[in-house]
Amino acid sequence: MRFADIIGQDDIKRHLIGTVKENRISHAQMFLGREGFGSLPLAIAYAQYINCQHRTDSDSCGECPSCRQISQLAFPDLHFVFPVPTAGSEDKSVSDNFFDKWSEFIKQKPYGNYQQWLDFVGAGNSQGLIRVKESNEIIRKLSMKTFNAEYKIMIIWMPEKMHPDAANKLLKLIEEPYPKTLFLLVAESAEFILPTIISRTQLVRVSRIADSDIKAGLQQRAGISENAAEKIASISEGNFGKALEYCDHTADLAQNLEFFMKLMRTSYSFKAPDMIALAEELGALGREKQKAFLTYCERMVRENLIMNRHLEKMTHLTDDEGNFAQKFSRFIHPQNSMLIAEALDKAIYHISRNASTKIVFMDTIITLARCLRMPAE
Ligand SMILES: [Zn+2]
Repeated sequence: MRFADIIGQDDIKRHLIGTVKENRISHAQMFLGREGFGSLPLAIAYAQYINCQHRTDSDSCGECPSCRQISQLAFPDLHFVFPVPTAGSEDKSVSDNFFDKWSEFIKQKPYGNYQQWLDFVGAGNSQGLIRVKESNEIIRKLSMKTFNAEYKIMIIWMPEKMHPDAANKLLKLIEEPYPKTLFLLVAESAEFILPTIISRTQLVRVSRIADSDIKAGLQQRAGISENAAEKIASISEGNFGKALEYCDHTADLAQNLEFFMKLMRTSYSFKAPDMIALAEELGALGREKQKAFLTYCERMVRENLIMNRHLEKMTHLTDDEGNFAQKFSRFIHPQNSMLIAEALDKAIYHISRNASTKIVFMDTIITLARCLRMPAE
């Protein structure tokens, strides 16, 4: 992966290139930014730049043996650690055992998130973890001689999923790594990482991608119209992974709005036959669609609340969503918005836990009915 393959983030690219040119590569760095902002692709491009044999002032060459191997994620001195689900025994629940899947995932979805990774690997209800056994592997791999590389690099994705014992085992190595060894931690939220780990790393803050960069990125990759790319960029919240998803599912976007309008109208009117019919209709969708729809509802409630506060300029809505919000936003106010968000969250939780989806939607409709009828102020 070259820097040129990464959407926007020019300031961070400049900073990373600067560390190489000025020979001040910090041996432990933490890329910290929300999902979809591109922290992982940036870390990989950085690793490629560092090890490129013919790098220029702005990028790796993409042609030399190191570049080729890294772009295939097959460079013997570039290691990855990431959360994995339980795989039978403790010994098998390590990154190496999942590496083929991981490599496929990164090539298909470099902007993919934790949940998508777990789905990709078929984790089911199992959580992803970085276990103690993994730390032993890290120490073992880094103690070996480099094959041919300038730097041996260990990329740890989602250190927030690291078992505290696993993290503690690594402290010393992160503080005093072997020569020419580099730790690149790629995290979303610092609050779930041991402070002792954070204090030993240099922070690289990855902020949201500019809408204009997302728009350009979409036009390059997905071959969509300028107008559609602009609309999608404006509702993606700086998250390129989400933007690509919207692109793949523009039909879903329209259908979600349709369902959202129906859900709000049916809840408000509180007519039992309509409520039952809607619970059955939504209950019949696949679970992934249901979760995507409820996540969509959460966004719409947030946007309608902003509209309700007369902050139209701060909303990110498509034309159709905006038209509905013009009339609907008076029903979403500070008195009920939190309760609605909680109800939607709860529904997602129960659907993930394999509850009966028709009952989940019926419960949600009843809660929404109560919330929507609450007086404002
Ligand atoms: Zn190269």
